[in-house]
Amino acid sequence: MSDYRIETKCIQSGWQPTKGEARILPIYQSTTFKYDTSEQMGDLFDLKASGYFYTRLQNPTNDYVAAKICDMEGGAAAMLTSSGQAANFYAVFNLAEAGDHIIISSALYGGTFNLLTTTVAKMGIETTVVDPEIPLEDLRKEFKPNTKCVLAESISNPSLVVLDFEKFAKAAHEAGVPLIVDNTFPTPVNCRPFEFGVDIVTHSTTKYMDGHAVSVGGCIVDSGNFDWTKYPDKFPGLCYPDESYHGTNYTEQFGKAAFIVKATATLMRDLGSIQSPQNAFYVNLGLETLHLRMQRHCENALKVAKWLKANENVAWVNYPGLEGDVYYERAKKYMPNGTCGVLTFGIKGGREASIKFMDALKLIAIVTHVADTRSCVLHPASHTHRQMTDEQLLEAGVKPDLIRFSVGIENVDDIIADLEQAFNCLK
Ligand SMILES: *Cc1c(COP(=O)(O)O)cnc(C)c1O
Repeated sequence: MSDYRIETKCIQSGWQPTKGEARILPIYQSTTFKYDTSEQMGDLFDLKASGYFYTRLQNPTNDYVAAKICDMEGGAAAMLTSSGQAANFYAVFNLAEAGDHIIISSALYGGTFNLLTTTVAKMGIETTVVDPEIPLEDLRKEFKPNTKCVLAESISNPSLVVLDFEKFAKAAHEAGVPLIVDNTFPTPVNCRPFEFGVDIVTHSTTKYMDGHAVSVGGCIVDSGNFDWTKYPDKFPGLCYPDESYHGTNYTEQFGKAAFIVKATATLMRDLGSIQSPQNAFYVNLGLETLHLRMQRHCENALKVAKWLKANENVAWVNYPGLEGDVYYERAKKYMPNGTCGVLTFGIKGGREASIKFMDALKLIAIVTHVADTRSCVLHPASHTHRQMTDEQLLEAGVKPDLIRFSVGIENVDDIIADLEQAFNCLK
């Protein structure tokens, strides 16, 4: 499958029916799977044979969808999780434990920032937060002997920072740790981080992949490129026998799939953040049109960004696809076919005018969501990021007057007309 272009992979990768099997990916709506002998079942528990036994760990519907996303990203192995939060948590916790240290970009989705600064701190993992524009020499200095990974977003939500992939990959690899990138916003249709040295990719499939706002989910894809066995003492969980799993040595037994097998065999087993097969089915449907939708999201967002930029009520516009944007050149380099459908802007008159403007919108809804077919807006300072102090907000690149606008795939003239009538209400 891997030689096909991304549009073909969106549709054809994953489920491969043969001989009278369902044309469309079946939903294996079953908690458990039957075997004929106790030995067959025993081999599964010993990871000697691969197969399904209980849906808390693995389900075929999920695995076919994970295989599709894996192929789209150009990875070696992948798994679905119940949410994007679970994906980022598992990706980190599969490597770091109490006493370890991680480095994250300050430009992250609020939920991820909270998870990786507050909640993992309670588990004894120390986090250093760096500005994504930190010079390479300074980034190098943040690594410690117990640093286990670096995490950033390819296009950050909502600050729309386009990651300097090569800088982060270089610093991480020099220090002998993998770079994890949350690729939710551009999706593999517009950006494939493994091509720029990223080792592990995560997704909130809740966003463009599902694309219709019907199911919460996540995904982890491993490139298979990071050689854990070069640093066995840094990654003992991957390189030494796992006593909690009959002495399994993941790198020896599973090679490029070691990271994903370990996350499934231990984290999924113990923490159980599995995606429901029904939701995986919806994600798969969404993936089939992802390439069409991303193209229209980007076209519409660019037109809206240009229109806003020229509007007298608007103080500023950020959109990495817009010429003149600070990240325009970098976006051209890493995602030449487009970025995403999300843009941000501020209205003259600040916070109050922004709220008044949003309340006047008719077609464009105020919802805590991004990246589905419908246009929607959110004011992070009073919604998603409200737990953050003003200082943290600015550190995360979120101005207090920032409106996050997820441009949908409606007719762009209708979207612009709605903006126009809402601006007229400010007069
Ligand atoms: C929404 C989002 C998440 C969290 O995903 P959920 O599916 O809501 O748990 C993580 N990263 C990014 C970039 C997101 O936009």
